[in-house]
Amino acid sequence: MKFISIANQKGGVGKTTTAINLSACLAEKGYSTLLVDVDPQSNATSGVGFSLDSGKSLFPVLIGEQLLKDQIISTPYMNLDLIPANLELANWENQQHDPIESFSVFRKIFRESLIGTTYQYVILDCPPALGLLMVNSMVAADWLIIPIQCEYYALEGLAKMFQLLDNLKKLVSAAPNILGILMTMYDSRTNLSQQVVEDVRKHIPKLVFDTIIPRTVRLAEAPSYGKPITLYDPNSIGCISYRKFTEEFLKKIN
Ligand code: ADP
Ligand code: MG
Repeated sequence: MKFISIANQKGGVGKTTTAINLSACLAEKGYSTLLVDVDPQSNATSGVGFSLDSGKSLFPVLIGEQLLKDQIISTPYMNLDLIPANLELANWENQQHDPIESFSVFRKIFRESLIGTTYQYVILDCPPALGLLMVNSMVAADWLIIPIQCEYYALEGLAKMFQLLDNLKKLVSAAPNILGILMTMYDSRTNLSQQVVEDVRKHIPKLVFDTIIPRTVRLAEAPSYGKPITLYDPNSIGCISYRKFTEEFLKKIN
């Protein structure tokens, strides 16, 4: 069982889109996958077709009222299960008084609760804020995928993530490594996108995934139908890109 966290403290960079579609592509290939929505805004939850009133969430697990296993929902998609989020999750952050101790809460819960399950990949979709939910999702993971939008300031945001990771490594024994940086929302018509790709590849050549996710309407539309791109439009360029990324992911992680 491998834990992967999709993280970037910046919002709107493609974390949720990547979490949903990587999970769906893994599931499509036959890997038993658990998608965990850690963002109180619940975009990953609605993106695979569940509403906020599914009644399940990580929150009651965090406060010790429910078992993690009982918060897992099976989705209509084969091999893909979900732990939904809800707004209450945000409260949990405010209830913690011993920050460093509380960094590893998820790690403990997940590793203990999922023993005996058949999940091969657990994908955590982080919230876009540097708080305890994000830090916990990172510490719970073996690997991080950091999506960045092909826009100015992409590298600046990355520097912040590297710094956070460095700090984490000093504070907790189990900090994740970066599996790769995924460039998203690439627009081939703009010089800016091309320039950002060149820049990022020049500065951090080893860390960047070869696959680049293009900006496409189909990828943006899919969540409003509650479907991963593999079901919404399996032949679209967006879907082909996420499948290609999944192949690269599998090669890198194994
Ligand atoms: P984050 O989780 O980092 O905040 P999202 O994955 O929610 O980012 O993406 C932000 C917005 O951009 C969403 O409306 C999403 O549908 C859209 N989006 C994400 N990736 C793409 C893409 N490759 N092409 C077009 N729209 C995208
Ligand atoms: Mg998101």
